[in-house]
Amino acid sequence: MSCAERSDVPEEKLKSVLDVLDERPIVDSALLQLLQWAAGYYHHPIGEVVASALPTALRTGASTQASEECWRITSAGEQACARGEPSRAPKQRQLLQELRTGPRATHELRERLGESWRAAARPLSVRGWIESALVSARDVPDIPSAPQPGPPLNDEQQAAADAIQSGLGRFGAFVLQGVTGSGKTEVYLRAAQRALAEGRTALVLVPEIGLTPQLVGRFRERLAAPMAVLHSGLTEREQLVAWREAFSGRARVVLGTRSAVFAPVSNLGIIIVDEEHDASYKQHDGGFRYSARDLAVMRARGADVPIVLGSATPAIETLHNLESGRYSRLRLTRRATRAAPPRLSLIDLRAHAQSGGLSTPAVQAMAEHLAAGAQVLVFLNRRGYAPTLLCTACGWIAPCAECDARLTVHLAARALRCHHCGADAPLPRRCPQCGFAVKPVGQGTERVEETLTRIFPGVPVVRLDRDVIRRPGELERAMHRIASGEGRIVIGTQMVTKGHDFPNVTLVVVLNADQGLFSADFRAPERLAQTIVQVAGRSGRGERPGEVLVQTEFPEHPLLTGLLAEGYEGFARTALAERRAAAWPPFSRLAAVRGSARTAEAALAFLTEARALAEGAHGVHLLGPVPAAMAKRAGRHHAQLLIESRERGGLHRFLEAWLPRVQSLPSARRVRWALDVDPIELF
Ligand SMILES: [Zn+2]
Ligand SMILES: [Zn+2]
Repeated sequence: MSCAERSDVPEEKLKSVLDVLDERPIVDSALLQLLQWAAGYYHHPIGEVVASALPTALRTGASTQASEECWRITSAGEQACARGEPSRAPKQRQLLQELRTGPRATHELRERLGESWRAAARPLSVRGWIESALVSARDVPDIPSAPQPGPPLNDEQQAAADAIQSGLGRFGAFVLQGVTGSGKTEVYLRAAQRALAEGRTALVLVPEIGLTPQLVGRFRERLAAPMAVLHSGLTEREQLVAWREAFSGRARVVLGTRSAVFAPVSNLGIIIVDEEHDASYKQHDGGFRYSARDLAVMRARGADVPIVLGSATPAIETLHNLESGRYSRLRLTRRATRAAPPRLSLIDLRAHAQSGGLSTPAVQAMAEHLAAGAQVLVFLNRRGYAPTLLCTACGWIAPCAECDARLTVHLAARALRCHHCGADAPLPRRCPQCGFAVKPVGQGTERVEETLTRIFPGVPVVRLDRDVIRRPGELERAMHRIASGEGRIVIGTQMVTKGHDFPNVTLVVVLNADQGLFSADFRAPERLAQTIVQVAGRSGRGERPGEVLVQTEFPEHPLLTGLLAEGYEGFARTALAERRAAAWPPFSRLAAVRGSARTAEAALAFLTEARALAEGAHGVHLLGPVPAAMAKRAGRHHAQLLIESRERGGLHRFLEAWLPRVQSLPSARRVRWALDVDPIELF
């Protein structure tokens, strides 16, 4: 981590340096500072934090350079090998024989012969039997010749691009708040272009690459600069190649998902975070739980460059930062296509007949839009055929043996699956308890697809969810069927709310808005409002205005009426006021300690002891421990303890003193537990 003149470790315990692997640090000082800050803020060991910033191949010894040392046998070596030499050094002989079959890169030799191959190589090289050379590990593809010109900007886009441009060269956080279809990407592109023109690089974060192929394509075409794309769908080798492109400075644009916030970008000029409200920026399992969006702001601050946070529905935290003047707002209020904003209305499910989850007014509206030659989008955030399998005779409901959850019916796969632990069982025909016939209850996307095919015979339906879209290629094929107009009705989960343009969709039906209205998690309403606005944004992006129908059993709910009357900003104002009154973030700071064990008692006992250690602590409130809302998951019982403080400093001073004591509790070794600072999901 650093160099020192002296050490407190006794001299006989200090180890010697064997080899210097890299000529320059693989983590530069600016990035190292960010990682150290993150280790402190998230109270996580620095070693694991650094490890999470590096691709796997690098952590296991791959070279940072694309060119690799490559060994081959000389003709003298060939002759010696033919004579059976060296006869008394088996490792050397093995190496010689290996090279006789062809040249080998160092990493291949390490894989085949183990770490000791280098010791064997030295005497052979001294005798002139083998030799090495640096070779390029891969050919560098040609850069596209000229950047494609973009469309002219409207005055709002121009004002936003100008503001960001004049902010280059110093830290500043810009919130690019633009309704869906208002052309945020054009503003990103101009800002990135500007930074590139000044000889700097751009770092672009997106929520999920698989769902934003269009964005990646546009950056590639329009900037025509070497680009490295980093995401978790890459193989280890691909990750390494992309990382090297960034590290070597060859890539001028680095675009990636969450962990790309740690990409080794030097000479940084700007950071762009697209869909900054997206929950996937928060790592909320595994050891090191961080927010890539928040770290991106820290990184921009450290590098003294501007950051652009783009969203149609900014997170409540981000809006609070705007209110308090820490961030500046750039607005895009008009859709680039001049389409009118979609009209939102509610359908009271208590007042209308339903068939397969679709109310009569929704079906009528669909028929009208289809008759007018348009496409229709149906949103339901629940995949599978039905969420419940029920026996109507005895009331048995198919449960997951490992979780406090019901199994979801997947009819096409003839399976019952748990969406929480992945359990998979064949679909029973009869009730295991009484032998009566069982029936699926409720709606999933698979069933809604069946219903739509029945109500609108002959109208092609395209379904988008994780059961049908498992590989990136499948998503592109489905998108093509929608874009070409072959698919007339689109039914999908959260997947349809992200990034795609459906210009011919004029009607969006949200089948069930009610899941987010009543939740223990104070963030649930925010997520629901964001989802409704994002999915609504899919409609009417072409010339025709869009219509959005939200089915609900609670049409008087203030969240829904507020959203209807004033849109996301009206909702956000109410939400901020509620958070302020209840002292939830951003008006307080939270950390959660989550524990899980084979028994509920063990998980709770640990958290109770941890809480007892905090007795008398100043400036913090401890809430809990309580079992998680879904206490049993994948065979383990989960519970959590919340720590709340009015201010950040107080929370961190407390955690610093308290965590080491929690770690040394004997019960801490009997449970799996982790700290989550700024948790975004509470349960
Ligand atoms: Zn039964
Ligand atoms: Zn389960």
